[in-house]
Amino acid sequence: MTQNKFYLISLGCAKNTVDSDSMAQLLYRAGYEPVNTPGDAGVLIVNTCGFIDPAKEESLQILGELADKKQKGQILIAAGCLTQRYGAQVAKQVAGIDGILGTRRWMDIVEVVNTLREGKHPKPLYHLPDVQDVGQDDAGTLRVSMQGASAYLKIADGCRRPCAFCAIPLIKGTAVSRPMGHVLSDARALRDMGIRELILIAQDTTDYGHDLGIKDGLPQLLERLVLEVPEVDWIRIMYAYPGYVTDHLIETMAKHKQILPYLDMPLQHAHPQMLKRMRRPANMDWVYRTIAKMRAAMPDLAIRTTFIVGYPGETEKEFQTLLDFIEEIQFDRVGAFQYSFEQGTASESLGDPIPPEVKQARWDRLMEAQQKISLSRNQAFVGHTLDVLVEGSGDGITLGRSYRDAPEIDGMVMIEGSIPPGEMIPVRITGAMTYDLTGDLAGDFEEV
Ligand code: SF4
Repeated sequence: MTQNKFYLISLGCAKNTVDSDSMAQLLYRAGYEPVNTPGDAGVLIVNTCGFIDPAKEESLQILGELADKKQKGQILIAAGCLTQRYGAQVAKQVAGIDGILGTRRWMDIVEVVNTLREGKHPKPLYHLPDVQDVGQDDAGTLRVSMQGASAYLKIADGCRRPCAFCAIPLIKGTAVSRPMGHVLSDARALRDMGIRELILIAQDTTDYGHDLGIKDGLPQLLERLVLEVPEVDWIRIMYAYPGYVTDHLIETMAKHKQILPYLDMPLQHAHPQMLKRMRRPANMDWVYRTIAKMRAAMPDLAIRTTFIVGYPGETEKEFQTLLDFIEEIQFDRVGAFQYSFEQGTASESLGDPIPPEVKQARWDRLMEAQQKISLSRNQAFVGHTLDVLVEGSGDGITLGRSYRDAPEIDGMVMIEGSIPPGEMIPVRITGAMTYDLTGDLAGDFEEV
């Protein structure tokens, strides 16, 4: 174990991974070296997730394991969303935690480590920015997380939406956009590092710029990105909020080949009464119209969405409306969650009345229905040629992603052969599975 080495484990979503990477950048600049084995590190950091129960349990379990194996002279810091919500309880529950850092205080990591190194006990840092905090404090770090030839680029943090089931505004505070200049400078840095795919993330990317006085900020940012980094092959948009996918955004996506015809737009349900109870946009006519508009403007559009089953009071009739809706719309990608009761949220008072077995049965029915849809959407690509960004290869099989596949959550394209990661290759699709495609190399590929 060496004092100036750190071991950082990042849990939860890509937005948390960006915070972890920024902490790593700050520690590295302060003379600390990253290691992959906790036993070799003087500083142990867990960037926790506190979104829903399973994530909280995983965070506590990993903190507990590291605390149990802690050697003399090692320090253990709990950071992220779980500590933002339950810092004091976490410190009580897991003996051996030396420092607590809230999710929006990642930039204080070096100060916390140094204070602990001096044998002092830093007070937990939680405070959230408020609306006056125009522009996030990037602490001079790139607010990105690189994954091979792809990179997540955080454009904002926090959320101001009223969704009744969601604890994120409690954890992250209100939505604060990063100044456009900072986002563009990160994009240029990633371009210079040879990144081929930029994945724009925030809790709600469609709210970008509202606090910077920029109307419809996301399409404006996209136009600037296309001008600034034309060398980057793909720009992908995640986490769009229904109701804020504007005509301007659709036009901008359709106008630029660099902006992928892919949109992740969590809808959460399809029954207007249920959506009202969830405090989610409930205008289903808007949803139908906007999806039709997007598909007209981008015929190859791939749509990803997310639904919650088992929200308090969900009737069989309301659930059936959701099933009918996905049958009708035929989404490319669907993520589904069983409702998780969350303290402090607007739906806390509703309790958690839907029995777990009913939630599970509805989740199974929804995923079963979507698997048939996903297969038929995939089958439509057999015989077509898609550009595929190679992620890796092994045992004579190369794995990559097409424009329809966001990293970690969507499908893959498999071809025979061994092609280096980061290559963009044309693949003729020969087969379709529920989530993945198979194909053959359809020509030469661009050397990076
Ligand atoms: S928009 Fe997303 S992050 Fe924001 S409150 Fe709703 S579910 Fe939570």
